[in-house]
Amino acid sequence: MASGLCACRPYSSECYTEIAMSLHITNSLTRRKEPFEPLEPGFVRMYVCGPTVYDSPHIGHARSYVAFDVIVRYLRYLGYNVRYVQNITDVGHLTDEAADAGEDKVERKARAERLEPMQISQAYTWEYFDAMDALNVTRPDISPHASGHIPEIISLCQRLIERGWAYEVDGNVYFDVARWASAGNYGKLSGRNVEEQEENVRQTVLEGKRHPHDFALWKRATDDHIMRWPSPWGDGYPGWHIECSAMSMKYLGETIDIHGGGMENMFPHHEDEIAQSEAATGHPFVRYWIHNGSLKIDGVKMSKSLGNFITVNAALERWPPDVLRLFFLGSHYRSASDYSEEAVLAASKGYERLTTALANSARILGDIEGREDHPAAKEAVSRFTAAMDDDFNTPGAVAAMFDTATLLNKALAGGEKETAAALRWALRQMGSILGLTFTSPGATDDAALGVLVELALEMRNKARAEKDFATSDRIRDTLKDAGIIVEDSPTGSTWRRA
Ligand code: ZN
Repeated sequence: MASGLCACRPYSSECYTEIAMSLHITNSLTRRKEPFEPLEPGFVRMYVCGPTVYDSPHIGHARSYVAFDVIVRYLRYLGYNVRYVQNITDVGHLTDEAADAGEDKVERKARAERLEPMQISQAYTWEYFDAMDALNVTRPDISPHASGHIPEIISLCQRLIERGWAYEVDGNVYFDVARWASAGNYGKLSGRNVEEQEENVRQTVLEGKRHPHDFALWKRATDDHIMRWPSPWGDGYPGWHIECSAMSMKYLGETIDIHGGGMENMFPHHEDEIAQSEAATGHPFVRYWIHNGSLKIDGVKMSKSLGNFITVNAALERWPPDVLRLFFLGSHYRSASDYSEEAVLAASKGYERLTTALANSARILGDIEGREDHPAAKEAVSRFTAAMDDDFNTPGAVAAMFDTATLLNKALAGGEKETAAALRWALRQMGSILGLTFTSPGATDDAALGVLVELALEMRNKARAEKDFATSDRIRDTLKDAGIIVEDSPTGSTWRRA
Protein backbone atom coordinates (compact mmCIF):
# COMPACT_ATOMS: atom_id res chain seq x y z
CA MET A 1 0.00 0.00 0.00
CA ALA A 2 1.07 3.58 -0.47
CA SER A 3 1.49 5.88 2.47
CA GLY A 4 -0.78 8.41 0.83
CA LEU A 5 -3.55 6.15 2.05
CA CYS A 6 -2.14 5.67 5.52
CA ALA A 7 -3.33 7.95 8.28
CA CYS A 8 -0.80 7.13 10.99
CA ARG A 9 1.87 9.79 11.33
CA PRO A 10 4.58 9.49 12.43
CA TYR A 11 4.45 6.00 11.00
CA SER A 12 4.83 3.08 13.34
CA SER A 13 7.47 0.52 12.42
CA GLU A 14 4.63 -1.86 11.54
CA CYS A 15 3.35 0.63 9.02
CA TYR A 16 6.86 1.08 7.63
CA THR A 17 7.09 -2.65 6.98
CA GLU A 18 3.89 -2.44 5.01
CA ILE A 19 5.19 0.50 2.99
CA ALA A 20 8.50 -1.22 2.37
CA MET A 21 6.90 -4.26 0.80
CA SER A 22 5.00 -2.23 -1.78
CA LEU A 23 8.09 -0.77 -3.42
CA HIS A 24 10.26 -2.95 -5.63
CA ILE A 25 13.64 -1.88 -6.96
CA THR A 26 15.83 -3.46 -9.63
CA ASN A 27 19.04 -4.09 -7.74
CA SER A 28 22.07 -4.05 -10.05
CA LEU A 29 23.92 -6.16 -7.48
CA THR A 30 21.55 -9.13 -7.71
CA ARG A 31 20.22 -8.25 -11.20
CA ARG A 32 16.74 -8.80 -9.82
CA LYS A 33 13.72 -6.74 -8.90
CA GLU A 34 13.46 -6.97 -5.11
CA PRO A 35 11.13 -5.64 -2.44
CA PHE A 36 12.73 -2.61 -0.85
CA GLU A 37 13.50 -2.97 2.83
CA PRO A 38 15.89 -0.50 4.38
CA LEU A 39 18.26 -1.63 7.10
CA GLU A 40 16.45 0.45 9.68
CA PRO A 41 12.65 0.68 9.33
CA GLY A 42 11.56 4.08 8.11
CA PHE A 43 15.05 5.42 7.49
CA VAL A 44 16.83 5.39 4.13
CA ARG A 45 20.55 5.98 3.77
CA MET A 46 21.14 7.01 0.18
CA TYR A 47 24.31 8.02 -1.66
CA VAL A 48 24.55 9.11 -5.29
CA CYS A 49 27.84 9.80 -7.07
CA GLY A 50 27.89 13.52 -7.73
CA PRO A 51 29.44 15.53 -10.54
CA THR A 52 33.13 16.09 -11.19
CA VAL A 53 33.18 19.88 -11.22
CA TYR A 54 35.50 20.86 -14.05
CA ASP A 55 32.95 21.81 -16.71
CA SER A 56 29.36 23.00 -17.20
CA PRO A 57 26.66 20.46 -16.35
CA HIS A 58 25.16 18.86 -19.47
CA ILE A 59 21.81 17.27 -20.12
CA GLY A 60 23.19 13.82 -19.32
CA HIS A 61 23.70 15.12 -15.76
CA ALA A 62 20.21 16.58 -15.83
CA ARG A 63 18.68 13.25 -16.83
CA SER A 64 20.54 11.38 -14.12
CA TYR A 65 19.93 13.80 -11.25
CA VAL A 66 16.27 14.32 -12.17
CA ALA A 67 15.88 10.51 -12.01
CA PHE A 68 17.43 10.33 -8.53
CA ASP A 69 15.46 13.40 -7.45
CA VAL A 70 12.21 11.62 -8.30
CA ILE A 71 13.41 8.51 -6.43
CA VAL A 72 14.11 10.61 -3.32
CA ARG A 73 10.81 12.48 -3.67
CA TYR A 74 8.90 9.21 -3.96
CA LEU A 75 10.65 7.61 -0.97
CA ARG A 76 9.76 10.71 1.07
CA TYR A 77 6.18 10.58 -0.20
CA LEU A 78 6.00 6.98 1.03
CA GLY A 79 6.93 8.29 4.46
CA TYR A 80 10.62 7.42 4.66
CA ASN A 81 13.07 9.68 6.37
CA VAL A 82 15.73 9.86 3.64
CA ARG A 83 19.26 11.08 4.27
CA TYR A 84 20.47 11.92 0.79
CA VAL A 85 24.19 12.40 0.25
CA GLN A 86 25.62 13.40 -3.12
CA ASN A 87 29.31 14.21 -3.30
CA ILE A 88 31.18 16.82 -5.25
CA THR A 89 34.32 15.43 -6.90
CA ASP A 90 36.85 18.24 -6.90
CA VAL A 91 40.02 16.11 -6.86
CA GLY A 92 41.19 12.69 -8.00
CA HIS A 93 39.08 12.08 -11.13
CA LEU A 94 41.62 11.31 -13.84
CA THR A 95 41.25 11.83 -17.57
CA ASP A 96 41.85 8.10 -18.20
CA GLU A 97 40.11 6.49 -15.27
CA ALA A 98 39.80 3.04 -16.84
CA ALA A 99 43.58 2.80 -17.07
CA ASP A 100 44.06 4.51 -13.69
CA ALA A 101 46.16 7.10 -15.51
CA GLY A 102 46.15 10.57 -16.97
CA GLU A 103 45.75 14.02 -15.49
CA ASP A 104 43.38 15.20 -12.78
CA LYS A 105 40.39 16.68 -14.63
CA VAL A 106 40.03 19.72 -12.35
CA GLU A 107 43.75 20.42 -12.32
CA ARG A 108 44.03 20.14 -16.10
CA LYS A 109 41.30 22.74 -16.55
CA ALA A 110 42.98 24.98 -13.95
CA ARG A 111 46.27 24.82 -15.84
CA ALA A 112 44.58 25.57 -19.15
CA GLU A 113 42.81 28.60 -17.70
CA ARG A 114 45.67 29.65 -15.39
CA LEU A 115 43.47 29.48 -12.34
CA GLU A 116 43.69 27.93 -8.91
CA PRO A 117 42.05 24.45 -9.09
CA MET A 118 39.69 25.42 -6.28
CA GLN A 119 38.49 28.38 -8.37
CA ILE A 120 37.54 25.92 -11.08
CA SER A 121 35.78 23.48 -8.78
CA GLN A 122 33.98 26.23 -6.86
CA ALA A 123 32.72 28.00 -9.99
CA TYR A 124 31.43 24.76 -11.51
CA THR A 125 29.90 23.62 -8.22
CA TRP A 126 27.82 26.80 -8.15
CA GLU A 127 26.92 26.39 -11.79
CA TYR A 128 25.85 22.81 -11.13
CA PHE A 129 23.55 23.78 -8.25
CA ASP A 130 22.09 26.73 -10.20
CA ALA A 131 21.25 24.36 -13.08
CA MET A 132 19.73 21.75 -10.75
CA ASP A 133 17.73 24.44 -8.90
CA ALA A 134 16.37 25.63 -12.24
CA LEU A 135 15.25 22.06 -12.98
CA ASN A 136 13.58 21.87 -9.55
CA VAL A 137 15.95 19.11 -8.43
CA THR A 138 15.85 18.89 -4.64
CA ARG A 139 19.25 19.65 -3.15
CA PRO A 140 20.95 16.74 -1.39
CA ASP A 141 20.94 16.89 2.41
CA ILE A 142 24.72 16.73 2.39
CA SER A 143 27.04 17.56 -0.55
CA PRO A 144 30.50 16.73 0.72
CA HIS A 145 33.57 17.77 -1.27
CA ALA A 146 36.32 15.19 -1.70
CA SER A 147 38.97 17.82 -0.91
CA GLY A 148 37.28 18.44 2.44
CA HIS A 149 37.63 14.77 3.46
CA ILE A 150 41.34 14.06 3.07
CA PRO A 151 41.78 12.89 6.73
CA GLU A 152 38.91 10.37 6.30
CA ILE A 153 40.40 9.15 3.02
CA ILE A 154 43.87 8.75 4.55
CA SER A 155 42.51 6.81 7.52
CA LEU A 156 40.55 4.50 5.21
CA CYS A 157 43.78 3.83 3.27
CA GLN A 158 45.57 3.07 6.54
CA ARG A 159 42.80 0.70 7.58
CA LEU A 160 43.14 -1.16 4.27
CA ILE A 161 46.93 -1.38 4.61
CA GLU A 162 46.60 -2.70 8.18
CA ARG A 163 44.18 -5.39 7.04
CA GLY A 164 46.48 -6.41 4.21
CA TRP A 165 44.21 -5.28 1.36
CA ALA A 166 46.38 -2.38 0.24
CA TYR A 167 50.10 -1.69 -0.07
CA GLU A 168 52.30 1.33 -0.39
CA VAL A 169 55.00 1.71 -3.02
CA ASP A 170 57.02 4.88 -3.40
CA GLY A 171 54.35 7.22 -2.03
CA ASN A 172 51.47 5.52 -3.91
CA VAL A 173 48.92 3.32 -2.15
CA TYR A 174 47.28 0.60 -4.24
CA PHE A 175 44.38 -1.70 -3.57
CA ASP A 176 45.39 -5.35 -3.94
CA VAL A 177 42.81 -6.50 -6.47
CA ALA A 178 44.46 -9.92 -6.93
CA ARG A 179 44.11 -10.77 -3.25
CA TRP A 180 40.54 -9.48 -3.20
CA ALA A 181 39.74 -11.57 -6.28
CA SER A 182 41.36 -14.71 -4.88
CA ALA A 183 39.03 -14.38 -1.89
CA GLY A 184 36.21 -14.64 -4.45
CA ASN A 185 35.02 -11.08 -3.98
CA TYR A 186 35.79 -9.38 -7.25
CA GLY A 187 33.21 -8.55 -9.91
CA LYS A 188 30.12 -8.81 -7.68
CA LEU A 189 28.47 -5.86 -9.32
CA SER A 190 29.83 -5.73 -12.86
CA GLY A 191 30.16 -9.49 -13.32
CA ARG A 192 33.69 -9.06 -14.62
CA ASN A 193 36.56 -11.25 -13.58
CA VAL A 194 40.14 -10.22 -13.10
CA GLU A 195 41.52 -12.06 -16.13
CA GLU A 196 39.00 -10.34 -18.36
CA GLN A 197 39.86 -7.04 -16.77
CA GLU A 198 43.60 -7.59 -17.14
CA GLU A 199 43.20 -7.71 -20.89
CA ASN A 200 41.36 -4.42 -20.83
CA VAL A 201 43.84 -2.53 -18.72
CA ARG A 202 46.48 -0.98 -20.86
CA GLN A 203 49.87 -2.13 -19.85
CA THR A 204 50.94 1.30 -18.67
CA VAL A 205 51.79 -0.19 -15.31
CA LEU A 206 52.80 2.43 -12.81
CA GLU A 207 56.04 1.81 -11.00
CA GLY A 208 55.67 -0.74 -8.28
CA LYS A 209 52.09 -1.89 -8.94
CA ARG A 210 51.96 -5.60 -8.16
CA HIS A 211 49.31 -6.19 -10.83
CA PRO A 212 48.14 -3.97 -13.66
CA HIS A 213 44.55 -4.07 -12.38
CA ASP A 214 45.45 -2.84 -8.87
CA PHE A 215 44.01 0.64 -8.52
CA ALA A 216 45.36 3.69 -6.73
CA LEU A 217 43.81 4.73 -3.42
CA TRP A 218 46.39 7.46 -2.94
CA LYS A 219 48.81 8.92 -5.45
CA ARG A 220 52.16 10.53 -4.90
CA ALA A 221 52.16 14.15 -6.08
CA THR A 222 54.90 14.94 -8.56
CA ASP A 223 56.68 18.26 -8.02
CA ASP A 224 54.48 20.12 -10.49
CA HIS A 225 51.19 18.72 -9.12
CA ILE A 226 49.17 21.60 -7.66
CA MET A 227 46.56 19.79 -5.53
CA ARG A 228 48.50 17.99 -2.77
CA TRP A 229 48.10 17.07 0.85
CA PRO A 230 50.58 15.68 3.38
CA SER A 231 50.07 12.01 4.22
CA PRO A 232 51.97 9.20 5.99
CA TRP A 233 53.31 8.35 2.50
CA GLY A 234 54.44 11.86 1.58
CA ASP A 235 52.60 14.60 -0.33
CA GLY A 236 49.87 13.26 -2.55
CA TYR A 237 46.20 13.24 -3.47
CA PRO A 238 43.39 10.70 -3.32
CA GLY A 239 42.17 8.40 -6.09
CA TRP A 240 38.63 8.91 -7.30
CA HIS A 241 37.01 5.69 -6.04
CA ILE A 242 38.13 5.99 -2.42
CA GLU A 243 36.42 9.35 -1.91
CA CYS A 244 32.92 7.89 -2.35
CA SER A 245 33.65 5.12 0.16
CA ALA A 246 35.09 7.55 2.70
CA MET A 247 32.30 10.10 2.42
CA SER A 248 29.43 7.63 2.35
CA MET A 249 30.84 5.89 5.45
CA LYS A 250 31.25 9.19 7.24
CA TYR A 251 27.69 10.40 6.70
CA LEU A 252 25.71 7.19 6.24
CA GLY A 253 27.59 4.44 8.09
CA GLU A 254 29.37 1.31 6.92
CA THR A 255 26.32 -0.26 5.24
CA ILE A 256 23.98 1.96 3.27
CA ASP A 257 20.60 1.24 1.71
CA ILE A 258 20.86 2.79 -1.75
CA HIS A 259 23.83 3.74 -3.87
CA GLY A 260 23.02 5.37 -7.18
CA GLY A 261 24.98 6.43 -10.22
CA GLY A 262 25.29 6.17 -13.95
CA MET A 263 25.49 2.75 -15.63
CA GLU A 264 28.85 3.80 -17.12
CA ASN A 265 30.29 4.04 -13.59
CA MET A 266 29.38 0.50 -12.64
CA PHE A 267 32.88 -0.48 -13.69
CA PRO A 268 35.44 0.28 -12.47
CA HIS A 269 34.21 3.03 -10.11
CA HIS A 270 31.44 1.20 -8.25
CA GLU A 271 33.14 -2.19 -8.33
CA ASP A 272 36.17 -0.57 -6.71
CA GLU A 273 34.01 1.25 -4.16
CA ILE A 274 32.63 -2.13 -3.09
CA ALA A 275 36.08 -3.74 -2.93
CA GLN A 276 37.73 -1.10 -0.77
CA SER A 277 34.68 -0.53 1.49
CA GLU A 278 33.98 -4.19 2.20
CA ALA A 279 37.66 -5.02 2.58
CA ALA A 280 37.99 -2.26 5.17
CA THR A 281 34.85 -2.96 7.19
CA GLY A 282 34.08 -6.64 6.62
CA HIS A 283 30.42 -5.64 6.10
CA PRO A 284 28.27 -5.37 2.97
CA PHE A 285 28.68 -1.84 1.61
CA VAL A 286 25.39 -1.30 -0.25
CA ARG A 287 22.06 -3.13 -0.10
CA TYR A 288 20.54 -1.78 -3.35
CA TRP A 289 22.56 -0.49 -6.28
CA ILE A 290 20.55 1.68 -8.67
CA HIS A 291 22.00 2.57 -12.07
CA ASN A 292 20.55 4.90 -14.63
CA GLY A 293 20.94 4.52 -18.38
CA SER A 294 22.73 6.87 -20.73
CA LEU A 295 21.38 9.81 -22.66
CA LYS A 296 21.98 10.13 -26.37
CA ILE A 297 21.44 13.03 -28.71
CA ASP A 298 19.51 12.10 -31.86
CA GLY A 299 20.62 8.51 -31.30
CA VAL A 300 24.31 9.40 -30.99
CA LYS A 301 26.53 9.47 -27.90
CA MET A 302 26.95 13.03 -26.65
CA SER A 303 30.51 14.31 -26.83
CA LYS A 304 32.31 17.58 -27.26
CA SER A 305 34.29 16.24 -30.20
CA LEU A 306 31.08 15.43 -32.09
CA GLY A 307 29.79 18.94 -31.41
CA ASN A 308 26.51 17.63 -29.97
CA PHE A 309 27.28 18.57 -26.37
CA ILE A 310 24.24 20.30 -24.83
CA THR A 311 24.61 22.07 -21.50
CA VAL A 312 21.71 22.28 -19.07
CA ASN A 313 21.63 26.05 -19.56
CA ALA A 314 21.36 25.70 -23.34
CA ALA A 315 18.51 23.20 -22.94
CA LEU A 316 16.76 25.55 -20.51
CA GLU A 317 17.01 28.40 -22.99
CA ARG A 318 15.12 26.25 -25.46
CA TRP A 319 12.64 24.48 -23.16
CA PRO A 320 10.90 25.21 -19.87
CA PRO A 321 12.16 23.16 -16.90
CA ASP A 322 8.89 21.22 -16.44
CA VAL A 323 8.97 20.16 -20.11
CA LEU A 324 12.54 18.87 -19.79
CA ARG A 325 11.61 16.93 -16.64
CA LEU A 326 8.57 15.46 -18.35
CA PHE A 327 10.75 14.43 -21.27
CA PHE A 328 13.35 12.74 -19.00
CA LEU A 329 10.66 10.94 -17.00
CA GLY A 330 9.09 9.64 -20.19
CA SER A 331 11.73 6.91 -20.26
CA HIS A 332 12.48 4.51 -17.43
CA TYR A 333 15.60 5.50 -15.48
CA ARG A 334 17.39 2.26 -16.41
CA SER A 335 16.85 2.56 -20.16
CA ALA A 336 18.73 4.77 -22.57
CA SER A 337 17.08 8.07 -23.32
CA ASP A 338 17.25 9.79 -26.68
CA TYR A 339 17.13 13.58 -26.68
CA SER A 340 15.85 15.11 -29.90
CA GLU A 341 13.88 18.18 -30.90
CA GLU A 342 10.85 16.01 -31.82
CA ALA A 343 10.95 14.03 -28.58
CA VAL A 344 11.07 17.12 -26.37
CA LEU A 345 8.42 18.80 -28.52
CA ALA A 346 6.15 15.80 -27.89
CA ALA A 347 6.77 16.19 -24.14
CA SER A 348 6.00 19.88 -24.51
CA LYS A 349 2.64 19.18 -26.16
CA GLY A 350 1.83 16.69 -23.42
CA TYR A 351 2.74 19.25 -20.81
CA GLU A 352 0.37 21.72 -22.40
CA ARG A 353 -2.46 19.22 -22.05
CA LEU A 354 -1.79 19.07 -18.32
CA THR A 355 -1.58 22.81 -17.81
CA THR A 356 -4.65 23.38 -19.99
CA ALA A 357 -6.67 20.99 -17.82
CA LEU A 358 -5.46 22.82 -14.72
CA ALA A 359 -6.23 26.23 -16.24
CA ASN A 360 -9.75 25.07 -17.14
CA SER A 361 -10.29 23.71 -13.66
CA ALA A 362 -9.00 26.93 -12.09
CA ARG A 363 -11.62 28.92 -13.97
CA ILE A 364 -14.47 26.52 -13.31
CA LEU A 365 -13.65 25.29 -9.84
CA GLY A 366 -11.93 28.32 -8.39
CA ASP A 367 -10.46 27.24 -5.09
CA ILE A 368 -12.87 24.39 -4.31
CA GLU A 369 -10.75 21.94 -2.28
CA GLY A 370 -10.49 18.42 -3.68
CA ARG A 371 -11.06 15.56 -1.25
CA GLU A 372 -8.19 13.08 -1.21
CA ASP A 373 -10.52 10.34 0.00
CA HIS A 374 -12.85 10.82 -2.98
CA PRO A 375 -12.98 7.52 -4.96
CA ALA A 376 -11.81 9.26 -8.15
CA ALA A 377 -8.74 10.69 -6.39
CA LYS A 378 -7.93 7.38 -4.69
CA GLU A 379 -8.24 5.46 -7.94
CA ALA A 380 -6.05 7.93 -9.83
CA VAL A 381 -3.34 8.07 -7.16
CA SER A 382 -3.27 4.30 -6.72
CA ARG A 383 -2.63 3.82 -10.45
CA PHE A 384 0.20 6.30 -10.19
CA THR A 385 1.76 4.71 -7.09
CA ALA A 386 1.40 1.22 -8.56
CA ALA A 387 3.65 2.36 -11.40
CA MET A 388 6.11 4.08 -9.07
CA ASP A 389 6.20 1.05 -6.76
CA ASP A 390 7.29 -1.01 -9.75
CA ASP A 391 10.94 0.09 -9.81
CA PHE A 392 10.07 3.80 -10.13
CA ASN A 393 8.34 3.24 -13.45
CA THR A 394 7.96 6.90 -14.38
CA PRO A 395 6.61 6.26 -17.92
CA GLY A 396 3.70 4.41 -16.26
CA ALA A 397 3.32 7.15 -13.67
CA VAL A 398 3.29 9.83 -16.38
CA ALA A 399 0.63 7.85 -18.29
CA ALA A 400 -1.48 7.73 -15.11
CA MET A 401 -1.08 11.49 -14.81
CA PHE A 402 -2.29 12.07 -18.39
CA ASP A 403 -5.27 9.79 -17.83
CA THR A 404 -6.11 11.82 -14.75
CA ALA A 405 -6.03 15.01 -16.82
CA THR A 406 -8.42 13.43 -19.34
CA LEU A 407 -10.81 12.41 -16.54
CA LEU A 408 -10.53 15.89 -15.08
CA ASN A 409 -11.54 17.44 -18.41
CA LYS A 410 -14.50 15.07 -18.62
CA ALA A 411 -15.63 15.86 -15.09
CA LEU A 412 -15.35 19.59 -15.82
CA ALA A 413 -17.38 19.24 -19.03
CA GLY A 414 -19.98 17.11 -17.26
CA GLY A 415 -20.41 19.57 -14.43
CA GLU A 416 -19.18 17.12 -11.78
CA LYS A 417 -17.40 19.69 -9.66
CA GLU A 418 -16.67 17.48 -6.67
CA THR A 419 -15.09 14.76 -8.82
CA ALA A 420 -13.20 17.37 -10.81
CA ALA A 421 -11.79 18.95 -7.64
CA ALA A 422 -10.67 15.54 -6.36
CA LEU A 423 -8.98 14.78 -9.69
CA ARG A 424 -7.30 18.16 -9.69
CA TRP A 425 -5.94 17.40 -6.22
CA ALA A 426 -4.66 14.01 -7.51
CA LEU A 427 -3.04 15.62 -10.55
CA ARG A 428 -1.21 18.16 -8.41
CA GLN A 429 -0.10 15.41 -6.02
CA MET A 430 1.39 13.40 -8.89
CA GLY A 431 3.04 16.52 -10.26
CA SER A 432 4.70 17.27 -6.95
CA ILE A 433 6.11 13.72 -6.68
CA LEU A 434 7.53 14.09 -10.19
CA GLY A 435 8.85 17.55 -9.32
CA LEU A 436 6.61 19.36 -11.82
CA THR A 437 5.58 22.85 -10.80
CA PHE A 438 2.91 23.28 -13.50
CA THR A 439 3.98 26.90 -13.67
CA SER A 440 6.21 26.65 -16.73
CA PRO A 441 4.69 27.90 -19.94
CA GLY A 442 4.06 25.08 -22.43
CA ALA A 443 5.79 25.01 -25.77
CA THR A 444 8.10 27.99 -26.10
CA ASP A 445 6.46 29.13 -29.33
CA ASP A 446 3.19 29.89 -27.54
CA ALA A 447 4.16 30.82 -24.02
CA ALA A 448 1.47 33.51 -23.91
CA LEU A 449 -1.23 31.38 -25.51
CA GLY A 450 -2.86 30.21 -22.28
CA VAL A 451 -3.12 33.76 -20.97
CA LEU A 452 -4.69 35.04 -24.18
CA VAL A 453 -7.21 32.20 -24.46
CA GLU A 454 -8.23 32.73 -20.84
CA LEU A 455 -8.72 36.43 -21.55
CA ALA A 456 -10.79 35.71 -24.66
CA LEU A 457 -12.99 33.27 -22.72
CA GLU A 458 -13.51 35.80 -19.95
CA MET A 459 -14.73 38.35 -22.52
CA ARG A 460 -16.92 35.71 -24.15
CA ASN A 461 -18.51 34.82 -20.79
CA LYS A 462 -19.26 38.49 -20.24
CA ALA A 463 -20.83 38.75 -23.69
CA ARG A 464 -22.95 35.66 -23.05
CA ALA A 465 -24.10 36.97 -19.69
CA GLU A 466 -25.22 40.13 -21.49
CA LYS A 467 -26.93 37.96 -24.15
CA ASP A 468 -24.62 39.44 -26.78
CA PHE A 469 -24.45 36.19 -28.72
CA ALA A 470 -23.00 37.78 -31.85
CA THR A 471 -19.84 38.71 -29.94
CA SER A 472 -19.72 35.44 -28.03
CA ASP A 473 -19.98 33.41 -31.26
CA ARG A 474 -17.40 35.58 -32.96
CA ILE A 475 -14.89 34.94 -30.16
CA ARG A 476 -15.56 31.19 -30.31
CA ASP A 477 -15.22 31.08 -34.12
CA THR A 478 -12.05 33.17 -34.11
CA LEU A 479 -10.50 30.83 -31.54
CA LYS A 480 -11.58 27.85 -33.66
CA ASP A 481 -9.88 29.32 -36.72
CA ALA A 482 -6.74 29.67 -34.58
CA GLY A 483 -6.91 25.98 -33.61
CA ILE A 484 -8.51 26.37 -30.17
CA ILE A 485 -11.69 24.40 -29.55
CA VAL A 486 -14.05 25.86 -26.96
CA GLU A 487 -16.55 23.51 -25.32
CA ASP A 488 -19.47 24.77 -23.27
CA SER A 489 -20.85 22.80 -20.35
CA PRO A 490 -23.31 23.48 -17.53
CA THR A 491 -20.42 24.63 -15.34
CA GLY A 492 -18.61 26.79 -17.83
CA SER A 493 -16.36 26.59 -20.85
CA THR A 494 -13.20 24.57 -21.35
CA TRP A 495 -10.69 24.82 -24.17
CA ARG A 496 -8.22 22.57 -25.85
CA ARG A 497 -6.10 22.56 -28.94
CA ALA A 498 -7.71 21.16 -32.06
ZN1 ZN B 1 31.23 7.63 -6.67
